[in-house]
Amino acid sequence: ITITHFAAMSLGFALLSVATKSQARQTCLFEAPSPPVSVPASESAGANPESFGEAHRPNQKFYDMIQDFRETLEVTPLSASDLVEAHRICVCVRKRPLSKQEVKKKEIDVVSVRGKGAVLVHEPKQKVDLTKYLDNQVFQFDYCFDETSTNDLVYRFTAKPLVQSIFEGAMATCFAYGQTGRGKTHVSLTMGGDFTGKLQNSSKGIYALAQDVFALLSQRRYASWDLCPYVSFFEIYKGKVGIMDSVTLKNQVQVVGLQEEYVSSVEEVIKMIEMGSTCRTSGQTSANANSSRSHAVLQIALRCSDRAKTLHGKFSLVDLAGNERGTDVSCNDRSTLVETAEINRSLLALTECIRSLGRNSDHIPFRMSTLTKVLRDSFIGEKSRTCMIATVSPGMASCDYTMNTLRYFLVFFHFPQTSYNIE
Ligand code: ADP
Ligand code: MG
Repeated sequence: ITITHFAAMSLGFALLSVATKSQARQTCLFEAPSPPVSVPASESAGANPESFGEAHRPNQKFYDMIQDFRETLEVTPLSASDLVEAHRICVCVRKRPLSKQEVKKKEIDVVSVRGKGAVLVHEPKQKVDLTKYLDNQVFQFDYCFDETSTNDLVYRFTAKPLVQSIFEGAMATCFAYGQTGRGKTHVSLTMGGDFTGKLQNSSKGIYALAQDVFALLSQRRYASWDLCPYVSFFEIYKGKVGIMDSVTLKNQVQVVGLQEEYVSSVEEVIKMIEMGSTCRTSGQTSANANSSRSHAVLQIALRCSDRAKTLHGKFSLVDLAGNERGTDVSCNDRSTLVETAEINRSLLALTECIRSLGRNSDHIPFRMSTLTKVLRDSFIGEKSRTCMIATVSPGMASCDYTMNTLRYFLVFFHFPQTSYNIE
């Protein structure tokens, strides 16, 4: 069966056909409903199907239609044994599991990851005569991670190659993009971590990343450079670069933030991030917490140990502010409006810079926002590498947002020439 009806067509996307198999049920990801978000160590498949609730849900018909569709879908999930491709600009999507609240509301999962690069959104629709139907749309990216993908797997295909590239002198940046609550912090600041704790600033977050940095530093081929790692961690809020707060490191009051700190071990990196994240999180007051309204930036710079501390390469991990629309922000006092306007401005600036990078343009409009000014290094030169990760919720209530995010990514970051060959 080839599905030819895609609303995405109107946007001029490549028309993708979904080859489906009408044979027996496959042992695919979709047989078991997604585990709820809060189940510890539940970044794996095999949740109890009963946990999804009783047979009747408000959208039972759509649920059944989606299940029927999935039964015919040929699914080849990305696995750790798959080849990690080298991309100059890598564009990915990560679908999180349904959250506890979504499960409680008996929301249905309307997103299917078909395989390495394809994600489908089964948009529930209704004809004028009230007949229900699905508008199944396919989006193609470099990598798509389903709800069972571990942070480790995501790290392997996204940030890990970037971390390696900075040893070759690259300026590499990894961004997490999406609405609040869709998994940006989970995918960025707990990247590579064995995420079992309740707190996102679990010390295990970033562990793999920091370990890789130190492992590579000790490799003989990089030894002659005599490189030293420096870490900085700060946030950008309302267009201002802020320090996380004063914290105590090695019994001295220090500032986690702007200032690059020389780090001599994995533990030191973790400690800095932990303290920074705590400050960031403790700043939260309402559901519309500051942490989701600020960009958090973690940078690891490799500097030569010469007098000038020449910059060799830099990796930046950016947990972007939530890209919700102004109308979605619950309180609309002046300060919130200013905040939203600033976020939109910086996300637009970021988009423009990445587009310029993708076109190999000489002019990179990084002056457009504080975020892009801070990340200036990231957009300049032959050795720029970027990875964008869109985080989406599978819930039906989020379908509009999900479609928006995926369309945005396709339209703005889809460069056919983004892969390059490794020498
Ligand atoms: P954001 O930073 O986009 O606002 P979070 O990263 O805080 O969103 O995620 C919201 C909630 O969903 C958190 O409780 C987080 O632990 C959980 N979550 C997000 N992504 C995943 C995932 N892939 N697997 C399991 N839980 C996740
Ligand atoms: Mg967050």
